[in-house]
Amino acid sequence: MRTNSFSGKLALFVLLSLFVLNMKPVVATTPPDDLPSLKGKKILMVWGGWEGHEPRQVTYKLKPLLEKEGAIITVSDSLGVYANKKLMDSFDLIIQAWTMGKISKEQEKGLLDAVKNGTGIAGAHGGLGDSFRENTGYQYMVGGQWVAHPGNVHKHTINITDKNDPITRGINDFQLKSEQYYMHIDPNVKVLATTSFTGEYDDWIDGAVMPVAWKKTYGKGRVFYLSPGHVADDFDSPELMELFLRGIRWASGSKYLPKEEWVSPVYPGKN
Ligand SMILES: [Zn+2]
Repeated sequence: MRTNSFSGKLALFVLLSLFVLNMKPVVATTPPDDLPSLKGKKILMVWGGWEGHEPRQVTYKLKPLLEKEGAIITVSDSLGVYANKKLMDSFDLIIQAWTMGKISKEQEKGLLDAVKNGTGIAGAHGGLGDSFRENTGYQYMVGGQWVAHPGNVHKHTINITDKNDPITRGINDFQLKSEQYYMHIDPNVKVLATTSFTGEYDDWIDGAVMPVAWKKTYGKGRVFYLSPGHVADDFDSPELMELFLRGIRWASGSKYLPKEEWVSPVYPGKN
């Protein structure tokens, strides 16, 4: 009797476990172990530029989440910080939310040198992918530049295309009502998620597939970019915030972890 009762409980436990394991949460509740931790990491958050993108709100929405993980945050609403080499050398990661605007030669050099030397950089939407339009050296570092958002704010789908990368693993495709960025992109970035355009607004791009999240390196620094995030409320999407947080964790590791090698040409080369 005792054995039977135990077997029954065991069977129930196994059944329940199988049920739990089979459930597919929208977002994995725990980050994959193979992403670096933010504990003790020094992060510079820089916000400014075009106010339509709510750079201050986006920055202060993210900040407590990073602090909860143990990050030490410095916030700057001026690009002047980029020209302070001593300070820049102390950061593990820069998170920039600065659409358009102008950057001085010294500030741009300070930023690019820091990333080249191993400080990671992460950002979303125009805050990283449409900053300092005249500065091609900056765009070479980011790996892409916004050019259009056909249809402005409308519902569209984000497709997770790399299911193995720790930044995207376990996250399902999701919908967003926001701007759908059309970008000019470095073909050597590692694309993690895409979105597909219809011909509804511009018929010549019907069927175009556009990266929305990528990782790359610039010198020793890790660069993570996410194209959605038009306003702070966009980050109420749990999937979008999870992608951003994971990309931030990944980019924070460049001073401590070996360089990843995954450049994979997308065009035919010499035979
Ligand atoms: Zn926007």
